[in-house]
Amino acid sequence: MTPIPIRLQVRGEHHMGKGKKPEMTVVGAEHCKCNGCKKPESKFTFCDEHYEWFKFGLITKTGTRVSDFDKKQGHYMAHVERQKTYKVA
Ligand SMILES: [Zn+2]
Repeated sequence: MTPIPIRLQVRGEHHMGKGKKPEMTVVGAEHCKCNGCKKPESKFTFCDEHYEWFKFGLITKTGTRVSDFDKKQGHYMAHVERQKTYKVA
């Protein structure tokens, strides 16, 4: 378990008062790599959900969907359903 680093830095606030607005800059990519996902990264550059996708081979390590994504997603959903069943039982 690694803590999620928060790297929000305020730049230009201290000595640049002349007409320059202070900029809020987010340094680094702290979001899940999966396309369009806005969740913060949790494990290996993915959020929890998409890390599972990655482990299952639904997406590559860069967050791109694999060519047989639809088929694999079917398997993945079935896998998730099975796990739910185990937890309830
Ligand atoms: Zn995600």
